[in-house]
Amino acid sequence: MNDFKNSELIDFFIKKVKKIYGNEYIPLHRPIFDNKEKIYTNEAIESNFVSSVGKKVDEFEDIFAAFTNSKFAISTVNGTSALHVALKLCNVSPGDEVITQSLTFIATCNAISYLDAKPIFVDVDKDSMGLSPESLNKFLVTNAKKEKGITINKKTGAKIAACVPMHSFGMPCRISEIKKICSDWNIRLIEDCAESLGSYYMGKHTGNFGDFGIFSFNGNKIITTGGGGMLVTNDEELAIKAKHITTTSKIPHKYKFIHDEVGFNYRMPNINAAIGCAQMEKLDRFLTIKKEVASEYEDFFSDLEVEYVSNYENAESNFWLNTILMESSSHRDHFLNVTNEKDIMTRPAWTLMNKLTMFNECQHDDLKNSQLLEDKIVNIPSSVPASSEWLFK
Ligand SMILES: *Cc1c(COP(=O)(O)O)cnc(C)c1O
Repeated sequence: MNDFKNSELIDFFIKKVKKIYGNEYIPLHRPIFDNKEKIYTNEAIESNFVSSVGKKVDEFEDIFAAFTNSKFAISTVNGTSALHVALKLCNVSPGDEVITQSLTFIATCNAISYLDAKPIFVDVDKDSMGLSPESLNKFLVTNAKKEKGITINKKTGAKIAACVPMHSFGMPCRISEIKKICSDWNIRLIEDCAESLGSYYMGKHTGNFGDFGIFSFNGNKIITTGGGGMLVTNDEELAIKAKHITTTSKIPHKYKFIHDEVGFNYRMPNINAAIGCAQMEKLDRFLTIKKEVASEYEDFFSDLEVEYVSNYENAESNFWLNTILMESSSHRDHFLNVTNEKDIMTRPAWTLMNKLTMFNECQHDDLKNSQLLEDKIVNIPSSVPASSEWLFK
């Protein structure tokens, strides 16, 4: 793509995005509320249960488990705390190592660090933008050995305790294939589904493949509770432990305060859960409309011969954020500069985790696709359009 073609593309893009979202400032992803959030929040306030005990929390967890087809759902104060607890309950301990991708949001690596464990960065697939099963297998065959059923990193001598793939921008990674490799190596599997509520791989909702899936309800995610997170699992014992440890490890009793281990105050407040209940009522509609927006974008970019990241085989994305791949990092930067100047919010991918000072000494493979994607990715406005014709057509 020459510079002239790039400028022409930007003009066309700005027209297109305004046609979908209107002429005001266009954010990358805004929340959508109606009256229900206010009604349910009022109910929570009037019940006097505003903190982590209350009917809305149970209700939100039940609706969420049903939607994701998970046996158990445990709500938390945010997605990062859900990750922290999931890793802890998978016995990730100080000095252990956890395999993840370098193309992810900082929260994934922060949670690993809270347990004094270290991330190892393995490459992603170009089409899924998530952890590559092929690269994972290659890393383990080259670098790991099994000792008494435990996988040890031959280079560092550390235990490789867990693997945390992430479903980037809602596009599911090849999680079935990853699960099989983790099972073979006896490595615990936690899915970072912060971005993938409503995304499926081989017809199964993300979050159900490993020991835990974790979700986020930050203001920019598919649904929001202001701030919030969720753990899902199909293992009853893990579910009971997760609820216990997120509730200060208090043993239920009529009036006594007995706690049987060091716990966390990580449970979602009832007020936030009230908002979550209202959002869940709209989730199916959000997903339908997001898929319509995605297909508009896909048609638009295919006419312009710009690479648009669409579903690959077996993948069904929620299209939380639509992604295009620019020809080079300089084309990307030009695109970002012009669109943001014109009040259209577009964003590059995160800086690869292995380039941040906290993680620049962590082990990694060649990260070929991760680097390529970091150079090319631009995320474009992807909210549910607020205009009524989109909401109700
Ligand atoms: C948003 C996000 C999180 C963390 O969620 P918070 O609720 O902000 O703590 C974790 N991982 C990824 C990939 C995310 O995008």
